[in-house]
Amino acid sequence: MPPETNKNEDYYNATIAKITPIADGLSIFHLKPDEPIGGQLPGHYVSIGLFDKSHNKLVRRPYSLSQSLTSDPDSNLLELLVIRVPEGDLTPALFERDTGDRLFIRPKMLGTYLLPELDDDMTIIFASTGTGVSPHMTMLKACVDKCRQVVMMECVRYSAELAYASQIQAYAAERSNLLYLPLVTREGGAKRYIQEFFSEGILEQEHDIKIDAAHTHVFACGNPAMIGIPREDRKTGALSFNVKNGLVEALIQKYDLSIHKPRRPGEIHFEKYW
Ligand SMILES: Cc1cc2nc3c(=O)[nH]c(=O)nc-3n(C[C@H](O)[C@H](O)[C@H](O)COP(=O)(O)OP(=O)(O)OC[C@H]3O[C@@H](n4cnc5c(N)ncnc54)[C@H](O)[C@@H]3O)c2cc1C
Repeated sequence: MPPETNKNEDYYNATIAKITPIADGLSIFHLKPDEPIGGQLPGHYVSIGLFDKSHNKLVRRPYSLSQSLTSDPDSNLLELLVIRVPEGDLTPALFERDTGDRLFIRPKMLGTYLLPELDDDMTIIFASTGTGVSPHMTMLKACVDKCRQVVMMECVRYSAELAYASQIQAYAAERSNLLYLPLVTREGGAKRYIQEFFSEGILEQEHDIKIDAAHTHVFACGNPAMIGIPREDRKTGALSFNVKNGLVEALIQKYDLSIHKPRRPGEIHFEKYW
C-alpha cells in the first residue's frame, strides 16, 4: 500500500449505509466498512477520509463513534454524528454525499478517551457541547448499569441539535440513577453553560450531585472553551489556565480532581474537537 497521502478513491473501503438528518447541517452517518474493524471500546474514534480531486489529496478527519440507545448492538455499522463546518475541508464534501457513496476509513479504533474500571460507588458525569455527546452515547449504558449515579449534560445552540434527547429522556425515565441535563443557549431564556454547573456549585445545590476525587469521574468532550484545558509547566508541573472559568479549572480548584493521564490516573477526562 502506498503512504496515506497518496491514497485516492481506489482506496475507499467503506459505504455510507444510511444518513439520518437531525437538524440543518447536522446528521448521523451510518458507515459500513468492507471489513469489520475490531477492537472498539466505548469512547473510541475513527479517522475517515474523502479524496479532494482539486488538491489531489485525501482529506482525513477524526470522528468519535456514537451509538443510538435504540441501535442493534450486533450491527456492524459505525455511527457518527457530524456537524457541517461551512469553511471546513471535509464536512462540506461529506454532506454532499448520499447513501451508497463510498469513503475511506482508517481500519483502526483510536483514542484514549476511555472509561476507567467502573464500580457501584462511582458517579460518572458526562459533559459535552454539540457533537461531543457521541462518545458519551457509547459509554452511557455501561455506566448506568454499573455506577451509583450518572449525569449526562449536553449543551447545544438549538434544541433541534439535541440528536439523542428523546432516547436519553426515555432511558432516564426508566433508570433512577441517570440524570439528563440538556442545555440550549440560543433560544432565549436564561443561558447556562456547563462550566457554571461546576464553578458555581449548581450540580451540588440544585441536583444533589456530590463531586469528589474518590468517587467521581468527569468526561468532557467538544468545544475547547467549555473544557478549558490548562497548560502544564514541564519542569514544575504547575498549571496555567488561558481559558478562564473552564470546566477543568473548576474541577481541579473547587473539587480537587486531577487530570487523567495514562501514567498517572486521574478523574478528569477530556477530548477536544478542535
Ligand atoms: C478526537 C476527535 C473526535 C472528533 N469527533 C467529531 C464528531 O464526532 N463529530 C464532529 O462533527 N466533529 C468531530 N471532530 C471534529 C472533526 O475532526 C473535524 O475537525 C470537523 O468535522 C471539521 O472538519 P472540516 O475538515 O470540515 O473542517 P476543518 O478544515 O478541519 O476546520 C475548519 C475550522 O473549523 C473548526 N472546527 C472544527 N470542528 C468544529 C466544530 N464542530 N464546530 C465549530 N468549529 C469547528 C476548526 O478549528 C477549523 O478552524 C472530532 C475531532 C477530534 C480531534
